[in-house]
Amino acid sequence: MKAWLDTTLKALNLVDTMEQPNGFTRLGYSKEELASMDVFREVAEELGLSVRKDHAGNLMARWEGETNQVVLTGSHLDTVENGGGYDGVAGVLCSLGAVKALKESGFKPHHSIEVVCFASEESARFGVSTIGSKSVAGIFDKSVENVRDRHGTSIREAVESTGLEWSSIGQAERPQDEILSFIELHIEQGTQIEDHGAGFGIVRGVACPIRLKVKVEGMAGHTGTTPMGKRTDALVALAPLITFVSKEAERLSNESTKPLVATVSTLDMKPNVMNVIPGYAEAGIDIRSVDDVLKKSMANKIIEQCRNLENEFNVTIKLETLVDNSSILLDEELTAKVKAAGERLGYKTYEMDSGAGHDVMNMAAKWPSALVFIPCEKGISHHPMEHSTLDDLYAGVKILAEVIQQEAGE
Ligand SMILES: [Zn+2]
Repeated sequence: MKAWLDTTLKALNLVDTMEQPNGFTRLGYSKEELASMDVFREVAEELGLSVRKDHAGNLMARWEGETNQVVLTGSHLDTVENGGGYDGVAGVLCSLGAVKALKESGFKPHHSIEVVCFASEESARFGVSTIGSKSVAGIFDKSVENVRDRHGTSIREAVESTGLEWSSIGQAERPQDEILSFIELHIEQGTQIEDHGAGFGIVRGVACPIRLKVKVEGMAGHTGTTPMGKRTDALVALAPLITFVSKEAERLSNESTKPLVATVSTLDMKPNVMNVIPGYAEAGIDIRSVDDVLKKSMANKIIEQCRNLENEFNVTIKLETLVDNSSILLDEELTAKVKAAGERLGYKTYEMDSGAGHDVMNMAAKWPSALVFIPCEKGISHHPMEHSTLDDLYAGVKILAEVIQQEAGE
């Protein structure tokens, strides 16, 4: 199995060795993503699965059971630019490996089993994430059709360049009663599993962000002739907020049972010229926790602090909420089964939240869903150095096989 995992990992990544200084670039709806999906098709057919492509470009490899109801597992094959070879691929690979293991053990599924590779999970190309899984769940918003990548290609054009019809993408939606459960495996992209000496992460919820834009209006002026006491420097008024966000997030997180993180992740100022006092400064803030109330209270603290800064520095501060998505809790029963399966196999599991979004969050809107994390070295991800060991991938195969066998058995 480990030799098969190694060979198939490289094949899905379209390389002979995983040592790639420039990493892997397979953007959503690109010819590289399609090439990787072609390899998926070959491998799945070798395992005796029948593969079809749906109207959103997702591939589904099916092991026919006695019923039409499906236990679904899988992830994605697209990457960010110069990304790693495990984000997404690990999930698709381990799902295929689980089917291989179950076939070899002589298992006969009662319910059908499908391995999916979702199209265009990353937001790297269009700033729109998880197009494939949103379509399957019936929550893809087609109004993004004219959003363009940096070469000027629209989402619609990219989708249609792969031979699909934009107008029929909605037909990828699957009826609620057709899927029994969805289980995704993904690399952790952090170090919590390692930090807790565990073999797996069992994810309880996916933290979705509140994103705020803070716009500070001051007054531009000559840096040489305006005395210090007569300035309304927008950047000076904004600066304490950066420290406040970091300190306050740490304090709130320490005080509560669920973790919270908040980051000033973008900065902009005008005119951004060496001899002019910044008359305008802008910051983007990303706040995440699976606890929506905690997230909201962090946002409120920031708003309150902005009012204080307005008074202190005599500037005008406007706040805009760009995103306010509720966090997603995964299915408790299925999650408990995954945890139990891991423990039966002798692994120490660690229950955690995911700070990053994955296909599973769309699937969870409609079907009982679970997410398993395997460790990735030093938490490095979206980077050529991204790495998970063959042992961790093999462990992933075993846990998926155990859960799928249980879910698809009689
Ligand atoms: Zn991913």
